[in-house]
Amino acid sequence: MPKITVDGKSVECKDRQMIIAACDDAGLDIPRYCYHPGMSIVASCRICLVEVEGIPKLVPACQTPVRDGMVVHTKSTKAVANQKQVMEYLLINHPLDCPVCDQAGECTLQDYSYQYGRSQSRFEEDKHKKPKKDVGEHILLYNDRCIMCTRCVRFTREVSGTSELFVDGRGHKEEIEIFPGKPLNNRLSGNVVDLCPVGALLDKDFLFKQRVWLLKSAVSISPVDSGGENIYLQYNEGVIYRVKPRYNAEVNKWWISDDTRYSYKPVMAENRLDQPTKMQFGAPARVTIDEAIATADTELKRLAKENGVGSTYAIFSPMMANEEVYLLGKYLREIDPGASFVLGPVPTVGEDEVFTHYLTKQETFRIKSEKVPNRAGVMRVLQMLGGVMQTIEEAAVNAKLKQGWIVGGYLSNWVVPTMKLPKGFKVIQEILPNSLTERADVLLPAAAWAEKSGSWENFAGKVQAFEAAVPPPEGAAREGDVYYKLLGRPGFFNADAVRAEMGEPFASVTLPSVDVSEPAMEFVEL
Ligand code: SF4
Repeated sequence: MPKITVDGKSVECKDRQMIIAACDDAGLDIPRYCYHPGMSIVASCRICLVEVEGIPKLVPACQTPVRDGMVVHTKSTKAVANQKQVMEYLLINHPLDCPVCDQAGECTLQDYSYQYGRSQSRFEEDKHKKPKKDVGEHILLYNDRCIMCTRCVRFTREVSGTSELFVDGRGHKEEIEIFPGKPLNNRLSGNVVDLCPVGALLDKDFLFKQRVWLLKSAVSISPVDSGGENIYLQYNEGVIYRVKPRYNAEVNKWWISDDTRYSYKPVMAENRLDQPTKMQFGAPARVTIDEAIATADTELKRLAKENGVGSTYAIFSPMMANEEVYLLGKYLREIDPGASFVLGPVPTVGEDEVFTHYLTKQETFRIKSEKVPNRAGVMRVLQMLGGVMQTIEEAAVNAKLKQGWIVGGYLSNWVVPTMKLPKGFKVIQEILPNSLTERADVLLPAAAWAEKSGSWENFAGKVQAFEAAVPPPEGAAREGDVYYKLLGRPGFFNADAVRAEMGEPFASVTLPSVDVSEPAMEFVEL
């Protein structure tokens, strides 16, 4: 294993690793614009140039492999002078519109101006103004903010493989462009906004909505398919404003699909269910959540006794957390040891969408066709609980089933007109109105995934935890809290405690901590 020295510190490196990657692993910060570990190296921005003893010229840290015994200086007079020159050059035509730019607060041009730039500009001429462009369904391009790092161009070639973006022109006239009639509309398009180190590529959905320093992040998992993409939900004062990718080398690397990016919308929908009801004289009557839970409990127990063992059923949604499936299953088996368990509908759309590198054709990303996050987890927990399991079609024609508990929580309407369900008493937990909620004997407005904690298992068998970002609407109750009440457990639902009780593979799943580390601000003088 080669060992190098960076600014007097000894750094252990992997073979043939680039200096910048070795420094990243060692927690040493080298500025960069064009370098991204998920794409090819172009070494065009020149801000990462470092001094290597024995080499007369500065070398790009992103493109120079380590060599055992190498001595690197990132803060030498030569290296710092280069950083200042690059910053001065990049800022020549960059507008000073940070107060209205969405990127302000997370802009590397801003941060590096402070850390590595000159405090004064010597530029007296007029700035070259370039037009704003609508480049895709979700994306706006503010060309005058672009610093030509080409990350976005490389992304559309090397990750999405769709090649919509290119560099048009040369020198100070060059611009990022789309080909005529070919907008940036691939299903990974939002990633270019995350990649852009300045505020040139912006998400129309987030435009002017919130200053980024007001946002807090919750660790979460994508709810839109069985891929299990790792994400941050970014929110402020009970409102989710955007979804950002969370790096996971095994699952989604640095990227997320646009479906995931905008998956928070149903959570913030105005028609969310927030009024518990119970059926009285053939019409739903408004009740408190405690009254609704008590009615569901009393009626289910009475009917299970009256109709005998095996007359109760539950439909478990593949949107439920594993912990919730476990608790509801335990409760129903307590009141009816012969209760039948059914997996709810699993919507599937065509085939997996596979993205490939434009040249090598190697797979870079996959959007799963199974449009729910936890079919595998629900099945695993139901098998763990044992007992009778049925398909939804079998349950629908089983005349023995007389009372049931149905959980929805899907992000769009899942109750198709052709769907058949067992007849009789029904308790429904749901987040959005549908034809089933209108007919519920007891309706318990529930929490969407972003409003509760738990875990899901993706298609590859990886169990991953998520946490709540925002509270559920007033009047709704988190599923876990409802089941705690029904089981007579004190306090509120605790996903960690339930996972520990469930045993492996759930017990060892923990929530990763939110990375709030900021690069240390260091001002280097010549
Ligand atoms: S738009 Fe952003 S990502 Fe694309 S080249 Fe310009 S600065 Fe880089």
